[in-house]
Amino acid sequence: MLWMLILALFFGVLFLLANTKLSLHIWLALLTISDFLLIGAGLNMTIGSILFVLIALAFLLLGFDEIRKSRVSSPILTYIRKVLPPMSQTERDAVEAGTVWWDAELFQGNPDWDILLKTPKAQLSSEEQAFLDGPVNELCAMLNDWQINHELRDLPPEVWHYIRSHGFFAMIIPKSYGGLEFSAYAHACVIQKIASRSGAAAVTVMVPNSLGPAELLMAYGTEEQKNHYLPRLAAGDEVPCFALTGPDAGSDAGSIPDTGIVCNIEFEGEQRLGLRLNWEKRYITLGPIATVLGLAFHAYDPDHLLGDQEDLGITCALVPTDFPGIEIGARHDPLNIAFLNGPNRGVDVIIPLDWVIGGEKMIGKGWRMLVERLSIGRGISLPSLSAAAGKMACDTTGAYARLRKQFRTSIGNFEGVEEALARIGGLTYMMDATVRLTTSALDQGEKPAVLTAIAKRYLTESMRVVINDAMDVHGGRGICLGPSNYLGRTYQSIPVAITVEGANILTRSMMVFGQGAMRCHPYLQQEIEAASLEDRDEALLRFDAALMSHVGYTIANAARAVLYGLSGALFASSPVAGPTATYYRQIARYSAAMAAMADLALLTLGGALKRKESISGRFADAMAYLYLTSAVLKRYEDEGRCRADLPLVHWSCQFALYQVQQALDGIIRNFPLRPVAWKMRAWAFPLGVHRKPPGDRLTHQVASMLIEPSAARERLVDGIYNPEDKDDLTGCLHHAMALTIQVEPIEKQLRTAGFIYTPETTYAAWIETAVTAEKISREEADLLLAAKEAVRKAIMVDDFAGDLWSK
Ligand SMILES: Cc1cc2nc3c(=O)[nH]c(=O)nc-3n(C[C@H](O)[C@H](O)[C@H](O)COP(=O)(O)OP(=O)(O)OC[C@H]3O[C@@H](n4cnc5c(N)ncnc54)[C@H](O)[C@@H]3O)c2cc1C
Repeated sequence: MLWMLILALFFGVLFLLANTKLSLHIWLALLTISDFLLIGAGLNMTIGSILFVLIALAFLLLGFDEIRKSRVSSPILTYIRKVLPPMSQTERDAVEAGTVWWDAELFQGNPDWDILLKTPKAQLSSEEQAFLDGPVNELCAMLNDWQINHELRDLPPEVWHYIRSHGFFAMIIPKSYGGLEFSAYAHACVIQKIASRSGAAAVTVMVPNSLGPAELLMAYGTEEQKNHYLPRLAAGDEVPCFALTGPDAGSDAGSIPDTGIVCNIEFEGEQRLGLRLNWEKRYITLGPIATVLGLAFHAYDPDHLLGDQEDLGITCALVPTDFPGIEIGARHDPLNIAFLNGPNRGVDVIIPLDWVIGGEKMIGKGWRMLVERLSIGRGISLPSLSAAAGKMACDTTGAYARLRKQFRTSIGNFEGVEEALARIGGLTYMMDATVRLTTSALDQGEKPAVLTAIAKRYLTESMRVVINDAMDVHGGRGICLGPSNYLGRTYQSIPVAITVEGANILTRSMMVFGQGAMRCHPYLQQEIEAASLEDRDEALLRFDAALMSHVGYTIANAARAVLYGLSGALFASSPVAGPTATYYRQIARYSAAMAAMADLALLTLGGALKRKESISGRFADAMAYLYLTSAVLKRYEDEGRCRADLPLVHWSCQFALYQVQQALDGIIRNFPLRPVAWKMRAWAFPLGVHRKPPGDRLTHQVASMLIEPSAARERLVDGIYNPEDKDDLTGCLHHAMALTIQVEPIEKQLRTAGFIYTPETTYAAWIETAVTAEKISREEADLLLAAKEAVRKAIMVDDFAGDLWSK
């Protein structure tokens, strides 16, 4: 009886903690009643009395404001003030940039599914669709990646002209300035299609539409600057680039040594205030041909021409590249991918102050401008490029695995190859889902800095996995470069995507969780702000209020984590019924566990967590894969719950949730304070760590989807450039795959009849024998020969006579 009551009270308390927001006084009253009930049911009097004393103590300490402030909040505040690491302005700007959205729901441990499911589905307007079907297809047809990367080492002049004159540099520019004013999703679709044909061309189009002068001008430019530059950028009369990185400032871009000194200048015959610029930049995409350079530098005002302040901070200006003192035009060679990229320098370049983007008032605000706007393009360009690589890998590798036979079997039927195919399919579905969700959030006006960092980092990493797998399945066919290789250049280019727009290691280990915790936590920022106040009384008042809410929030998350952990997330609610409901519940479970664990980590490691990158990197993994799972579920709903897609949905969700579990388990196993780790384990995994990655049956189902034409396969690869021409680079694969499938029953028929080809004779002669022996008809023989020829074309690689590099 006593044990049943203890159990009932335990679950009752957990349930109330997890689902209600009762005040502290009500809680203490409920606990007191529970204690009396337990004593009444036979609980040992001494234990009952100890419990009562503890409840009374809690009441004394926490129930009276003044006592709580002086005995609890004040010592914690003193401690926090001592250990709180100073935050530089650049860190503050980075942390405060953008908005929070679904990331906050996941981080706070109790996601409101309405926010996810009511987000409009990503879709194209008819105008955007027409652009994809028209100019984008036309551009793709003009692209020959081998010619670009190997022969010309540049885009051909007609491609440059087409890109500049058809608005490809103007996707984000408003129509009022002559731009296309596309949605983020349309922008992503354009990049995807181009990227599926040529990475070099996609990067060329990506940059002016991402973090470049246009983006900064639209957000911060003066009217005069917008009126001057935006129509010229839209018409392709100006080619922009943006130069931040230099030899001494890569990831730590806030430390750029490039300077702009405020000085008196004579410009166009007038005495004005200006800047004397000195810089050295490298790795600048489109730099070698740019006509206008967006330049980031550190501004100083040593002669106090603008005011008291000498160190004004990072500033962005637009400088025509033909201005005296600028050295531009040299090129780097980024892994043989021939988009234009190079260094540039400026020595004593004198510009008027009104060339600063946004004018004088924006001097020193450059870092904030950059991080804020970076959060938009980062969610579009490289995620789309990654999804395109995935779709291209699904399409080509699936076809190749079907038509390529070894040991008399399509290689796609071998279980080992199936594992690679399933990863390619599942990750691609997840990547595309993430692009859709992220761009749809951007189209709603969100600037979710954490989620775009996640999209960039985790999609480029998924692309790395997918392309490695695709290369493995293609064997030598992927390795030998030449005009008929559709895969090797993508493989070569992956480190570029990994490195740019926030290098991946840094993004995972420093940014995602660091920024996530600061931005998404409902109380942390309030506590830090309160602790930083000079007036201690005011600090204590605000800190105490935030701390009490924080404690309630942590307890609720811990209770939810335990309740869901003990029940296999059965108590978590799902907004849908059916086969995906379980994944919603699991997201809720891990989200609560992550939130409670993050609080323990922040509480015990404080500022030191910043240096514990392995711990914060794992938190980033957990958060990221919860986001990616949400994106998959949202896509499944948006596409009308296509049952045929379920293997992809199951694979992606099971894969991603497994990563979440491993990340949380990794935090616990490696957490430096062991008693805290034990507590985390009790909260997050009260019954142990049991989740498994996708199993062999599911792997087989997903792999089969790639090697068999179907509507689901078409949905998976939709959006890439895919001509059906049998002589095309990838069109030949479709042709060969279709014929391979058509002749499979005939081949089976021959095998059953004991007719097996051996190389003693030619294939054509052997077929002729089969016709003569009336094992197959003439039509069937023709089909077999056509298939043989198509397969040969699809599996052949290029060879070169003499000196390959002189071609
Ligand atoms: C092809 C290409 C195109 C580019 N285009 C442009 C452009 O148009 N404009 C522009 O301004 N810049 C551009 N860049 C620069 C790009 O943004 C930088 O290369 C990037 O920021 C990384 O700097 P870095 O290469 O100097 O590497 P480093 O900063 O030296 O980093 C090296 C490694 O250390 C890791 N690392 C660094 N700090 C930390 C940390 N605190 N914690 C964990 N890991 C860390 C990084 O993740 C990386 O893996 C381009 C670069 C390339 C290669």
